[in-house]
Amino acid sequence: MRQVVMFDDVRELELWPSKLFDKYLDLTKKEIKHFFTKDKLVDISCPACDSIDKKQAFQKFGLQYMECKNCKTLFLSPRPNNDLIHKFYKESEAADFWYSELYKTTIKKRTIHQSIPRAMWIANITEEFFQKPEIFVSINTISQSLLEEISRLNLFKRKYLFDPYIKNINTMFEKEGFKILSKSSEINANAASAFGVLDRVFSPKDFLKNARSLLKDNGILFITTSTISGFDLQVLWDKTKSIFPPDHINVISIEGFSYLFEKSGFEIIELSTPGQLDVELVKNAIKNNNINISRFISYLLNNRDENAHKSFQEFLQRFKLSSHVRIAARKKE
Ligand SMILES: [Zn+2]
Repeated sequence: MRQVVMFDDVRELELWPSKLFDKYLDLTKKEIKHFFTKDKLVDISCPACDSIDKKQAFQKFGLQYMECKNCKTLFLSPRPNNDLIHKFYKESEAADFWYSELYKTTIKKRTIHQSIPRAMWIANITEEFFQKPEIFVSINTISQSLLEEISRLNLFKRKYLFDPYIKNINTMFEKEGFKILSKSSEINANAASAFGVLDRVFSPKDFLKNARSLLKDNGILFITTSTISGFDLQVLWDKTKSIFPPDHINVISIEGFSYLFEKSGFEIIELSTPGQLDVELVKNAIKNNNINISRFISYLLNNRDENAHKSFQEFLQRFKLSSHVRIAARKKE
């Protein structure tokens, strides 16, 4: 399995001006009570390894996160079903704010730091496995700029959007040559992408099953998501701003990804944690919120210089201990 260490990729949190991000969190927290009433939530076992052995971790916005005792995945349970999650992203003020304010404010940064590197990643690996790749599908797309960059590659003859999360789909998609698929069908794609999606689906297993049905044999699925194995999430735990429902209801561990992909008929060909800001996020959280952390980490952050912190971040990337993960997985026959 390959692994990349340095990579220009970023998490949502790292793209957003903090005031806008805080407003998004406030809106989400307020609306969750109306969209996800307790009687509509369902209990689940671990969404990565299926184990029923779990313990309470912490609450966020009044909802309960559990930790799997087997693979250490963190997940929301009880949780809203897929219909409720979709409804939230189509109708909530928070989702509206995301597209009308945050997306517009960050589109330049997003293109440079997120969409271009992601499109290049897709192109490089796809070309390695297919001499003449023809079909690409983007699953539950949330970013328009990614689609533009995929078009710019001039690599795929046919391009599809499967069940996009974007509201008010405009003619831009047609201009870039994308067709919308609302139901799963046999399109035999060479490559499929789902960036920032696995965090927010009701069942990661069903999601992968669906993705598998869109791919041809040996087709590649490209994913980015958060992982609870990462440094800042492990250190900050309930104090992190990166974990909240419904955007992050599955925060799967590195071990959990192995179970999940293997069981779903995929072979992982790349799993990297190329995040760059774990150390920075912990530093900022301590400075702004007076959070207690372990003596060693406190000593490392306060008594060593930028060089040491940079090397430490590289260590986290190298040993799959950063909270931002990217996975390329091949559909097994
Ligand atoms: Zn588990």
